[in-house]
Amino acid sequence: MPQLNDARLFDLLSVPTAPFREENVKRHVKRVLTDGGVPFFEDRTGNILVGAKSKSDYLSCLKSRDPEPLRIFIAHLDHPGVQGLEWISENELSVEWLGGSPTEHLDGATISLFNALGHEFKGTLTRPEMAPHGRALARGVVRVGPDFPKKTLAQNWAGYLSFRAPIWEENGILYSKCCDDLIGAYAIIELALKQNWKKKKRPPFVALLSRAEEVGFIGAIGHFEEGYLKQGKRPRFVVSLETSRTLPGADLGKGPILRLGDRMNVFDSGLTKWMCDTIESKYPGQGQRRVMDGGSCEASAALAYGLRTIAFSVPLGNYHNQSLQGGPDASPTNGPAPEFVHRTDVEKLQAFIELIVTTKCPMSDPYKSIRKKFKQSFREMASRLK
Ligand SMILES: [Zn+2]
Repeated sequence: MPQLNDARLFDLLSVPTAPFREENVKRHVKRVLTDGGVPFFEDRTGNILVGAKSKSDYLSCLKSRDPEPLRIFIAHLDHPGVQGLEWISENELSVEWLGGSPTEHLDGATISLFNALGHEFKGTLTRPEMAPHGRALARGVVRVGPDFPKKTLAQNWAGYLSFRAPIWEENGILYSKCCDDLIGAYAIIELALKQNWKKKKRPPFVALLSRAEEVGFIGAIGHFEEGYLKQGKRPRFVVSLETSRTLPGADLGKGPILRLGDRMNVFDSGLTKWMCDTIESKYPGQGQRRVMDGGSCEASAALAYGLRTIAFSVPLGNYHNQSLQGGPDASPTNGPAPEFVHRTDVEKLQAFIELIVTTKCPMSDPYKSIRKKFKQSFREMASRLK
């Protein structure tokens, strides 16, 4: 099993992010990719496309005659949080909440406010107002302390629920203000850093590090609308990498879940079968398999744009910072809490996505080997039909 690069993982998960406010995490990721010699560019939507140095380089991957399908990984860079709206007094910032959230014990929660330069100041959430559907916050007011810079634009500030540290580890569990989905982004970055991008034969993948997933896959939709993936004839498929709330049969520490579907859709059956067999032959019993219908993911957006799609989820505790499982720094049930993942699940995700790019994919006929077995059974039994 590959080991995690703790320094890179902890650095990434420490960067503040929120829907539409991915500027700090993007700057961080671009620096890591640049230092590692990984090509990338930014699309018009502001997503980072890893594995091609420009739009035309991306199109040449899609138009290449390489029969091996292009794998298109997707993970998102945002996480539920607040956006500043206006100052209602010298030390009170009214905010809107974007994405899922805890539903109770929100009054008095610590919010870390950040600006585009990555400067952070702690504040206290007051007057939380739930959305009419009751499942998430809609608005609130963040009270800031005397150290907060004076006379700044309210819209410059975004924020997230803050705990004792941005990330820490206890007994093999990684606790963070944001596992969803910087864990997926981390796995993609590590995969990209392991490749030699200078060789004439390119690694058979690109990756979309997307924006604003938490408010309805906005970044991914933007990318699909830009039309690149309608270009060229090279076979291609999407692999969504997420962290998703644990469910019965999708347990923490038992490996990443090959996600058969989400709340909206089931995913590509043939490719899922190939993936499942590939994992079982190399890492028997190390993964899980299930429909993860606790939420929907960017795989559903890709499907709607006609792309064949498979998906992985790392089991996630305290989904969207809601105290569902409790643990260190957690408020009582449904209050603010750090998200958490198991270290070994992230290591296995790393191993599984390496298999995706190193194993030949029989995409045009994923059932060929199964048909061979079926025919064999038929031949063995055929005489009894007479
Ligand atoms: Zn997510």
